[in-house]
Amino acid sequence: MSTCLVFAPGAAHTWPNHPENAARTQAIYDYLRADGIWQQAAHVPAAPASDEQLTRVHTPRLLHSLQQMAGEGGGVIGGDTYVTDASYDLALLAAGGCCAAVDHIMTARCQNGLALVRPPGHHAGRSQVSGFCLINNVAVAARHAQACYRLSRVLILDFDVHHGNGTQEIFYEDPSVLFVSMHLYLPLYFYPGSGATHETGHGRGKGYTLNVPLPAYVGDAGYRRLFTDVVLPKIATFQPELMLVSIGFDAHWADPLSASGLTLTGYAQIVRTLLRAADEHCQGRILFVLEGGYLLPALTTGVCNLLYALTGRQHVKDPLGPLPHPEADIAPLVAELRQRHLLS
Ligand SMILES: [Zn+2]
Repeated sequence: MSTCLVFAPGAAHTWPNHPENAARTQAIYDYLRADGIWQQAAHVPAAPASDEQLTRVHTPRLLHSLQQMAGEGGGVIGGDTYVTDASYDLALLAAGGCCAAVDHIMTARCQNGLALVRPPGHHAGRSQVSGFCLINNVAVAARHAQACYRLSRVLILDFDVHHGNGTQEIFYEDPSVLFVSMHLYLPLYFYPGSGATHETGHGRGKGYTLNVPLPAYVGDAGYRRLFTDVVLPKIATFQPELMLVSIGFDAHWADPLSASGLTLTGYAQIVRTLLRAADEHCQGRILFVLEGGYLLPALTTGVCNLLYALTGRQHVKDPLGPLPHPEADIAPLVAELRQRHLLS
């Protein structure tokens, strides 16, 4: 079966001197076309998300205010998140595109998928935009999967270098969505500052949020150990029926916005680990949704490697090479998380 590819590049959602801009998706497009892997995917068109799809996640008030702001020409919200006159329509395409990919995967027209969409989504909460994000694409996709395919257990795994605080907030009291976030955690210094180990959910959702807050310069070996000892055992206890992955390439060691330590080879290994988990738990049903990533060579090559893995190719490209620092020790974090989530 094929890999579906949704491309909603948000070309007119762009802002001068802002790191989250349309050059990102344009560079990915150019790279994938030149490589030839673009032509190997099953291209699925994005349609705008409906009010019904959007209001499963966001308040009507937020949606209305975004629409109004775009209608008035746009502006900047909260210092870092911008809206242009086209942003509302493009955000709806991004979220709707993720729903279309879910449809293709859930009806077995495709085995797995990748949504290359902008603006990104994982910092957008129920009632507020944040961190370059307007509509929470992966959350809309999860609710769409639950509403249309009666799924009772959806996994959202987020390994963008920033904590997926919006996604966490949306599902914090919900035991039907396991949210796992692995992120750089340097409170007071690094956005958004949430995502500590003790944030594990609330009420009926207690135990259905797993935060893996990382010190600086955790690299391929540290991530591998965290997957083996913490994340994969947690996923196994949940038995997801569909896996959604918020993937950001800003955990690459050379990304200008962070201080993490993954290599492109490490990214490719994580992707293959997740594909095996999807095979084991949910007949291979997995959708990757693009979040951040601001160093174009890491972003473009990383997405290319991701498509290689989704389409069953073994090849991995890593022109940027290894982390030029010693890796941080994460043994104490592994021990704490295993105890807190009863994984021993
Ligand atoms: Zn990020």
